[in-house]
Amino acid sequence: MIELRPYQHNAIENLRRAIANGNRRVLLQAATGAGKTIVACEMIRLAMMKSKRVIFIAHRKEIITQTSGKLDAFGINHGVIMANHARVNNHAVQVASIQTLTRRDKPPADLIIIDETHLACSASFKQILKHYHNATVIGLTATPTRLDGKGLGEIYSDIIQVVPMAQLIEEGHLVKPRVFAPFTPDMKNVRKSKGDYDAIQTANLMDRKEITANIVKHWATSAANRKTIVFASSVEHSKNIVAEFEAANISAKHLDANTPADLRDRTLNEWREGHFTVLSNMGLFIEGLDVPAAACCILARPTKSLTIYLQAVGRVMRPHETKTDCVILDCAGLTYEHGFVDDAREWTLDGKAKKQREEISAVHICDECFAAYSKAQHSDECPECGTKTPVEAKIIEQAEVDMVELTPSIVEQLRAKRMKFLEQSKCKTLEDFKELGKLRGYKSGWAYLKWNERKAWLEANGYPVPTEQPK
Ligand SMILES: [Zn+2]
Repeated sequence: MIELRPYQHNAIENLRRAIANGNRRVLLQAATGAGKTIVACEMIRLAMMKSKRVIFIAHRKEIITQTSGKLDAFGINHGVIMANHARVNNHAVQVASIQTLTRRDKPPADLIIIDETHLACSASFKQILKHYHNATVIGLTATPTRLDGKGLGEIYSDIIQVVPMAQLIEEGHLVKPRVFAPFTPDMKNVRKSKGDYDAIQTANLMDRKEITANIVKHWATSAANRKTIVFASSVEHSKNIVAEFEAANISAKHLDANTPADLRDRTLNEWREGHFTVLSNMGLFIEGLDVPAAACCILARPTKSLTIYLQAVGRVMRPHETKTDCVILDCAGLTYEHGFVDDAREWTLDGKAKKQREEISAVHICDECFAAYSKAQHSDECPECGTKTPVEAKIIEQAEVDMVELTPSIVEQLRAKRMKFLEQSKCKTLEDFKELGKLRGYKSGWAYLKWNERKAWLEANGYPVPTEQPK
């Protein structure tokens, strides 16, 4: 049996009340560290006691494995609906991969729980929701806005916040972030496209020697030796950041969506085990990277997406025996753009995170140590170095949370493109590429092209190129 935290009990109580009031589609907002899997397992247990049938749906294999494990710990018999998974049965509780469930016969269900539901605008989800139109649907997410900034109001009719992030920090379920902002890019003239800053213009602005050198310098001052993850603006930018760290004798490696999957996993393990310090990436670890020892996050990618910002910072806030806090090195102006990560946010179904008025805290940056702090909370002196907060302190008011229109179809295209890259990254030989090309209905030249690109990539990145000639 697993002990629930008091706020987890409250959340379940609120959820039951919402459902009793006739809301059959409820969104549960749970910050990283709130223990949403535990909350989900308890909901499943309560549903089972009433002889209800439940399906827990997720995208990623790790989440499915993790949830199945937690259900075992709760003593709940269940099946798993996932490709190549042996736990096939007719139990009242099923844990399903969205991809597999869309393809197979759908078991009956009274309650559907959807994990990471901010991703739920895809065609597969629409199909599932249509099939189970009589079921109660509960969505789980840390950030109830889709990546395009739109809300989830078209799916859900009510939203319940499990616990404010500040409380999780207070109770030790997350560590306190210390924010330093040594550089803030001027994004005024950067074009907006596809719901965010234009990728090329942003990369041009950020990928400059003086900024990169500044990042390494400030890391050495404020975060030296911390296991660090970098979010870069482009692949080139990420590589340049790695080069700058290496030039300062700090071990660093780069990953992006084109990195072959086996190499990505190997690099990730090396980082986890402490073989090198700084892991820089472009477009990979927004969600799902779980390395609690990571203690510094370098934000080098300006973004209008509050989801991307909160998910990135969430990677380093998990408690671990090796750390008592985490350092956010904000070189992308995200604290100005979105506020402090632990600011109180009142989430709504239209995708906006309203800040409570008295919580709107002007960001002040210390002239001495570049600590970014709330002047309302520290009106006398800098919490990091004790420098007096000047009365006429330069204060930049936070912009209103600004959402750019973006149609679901563009988001779908972007995700499909990323999934394609990740699928390709699993190919190890020319044969693999040929097989994938065939599956996708491409001409045979595609496989050779991709294989040559792969070899060029390995060479350019200093990895051995396979010598054995594939059949
Ligand atoms: Zn200071």
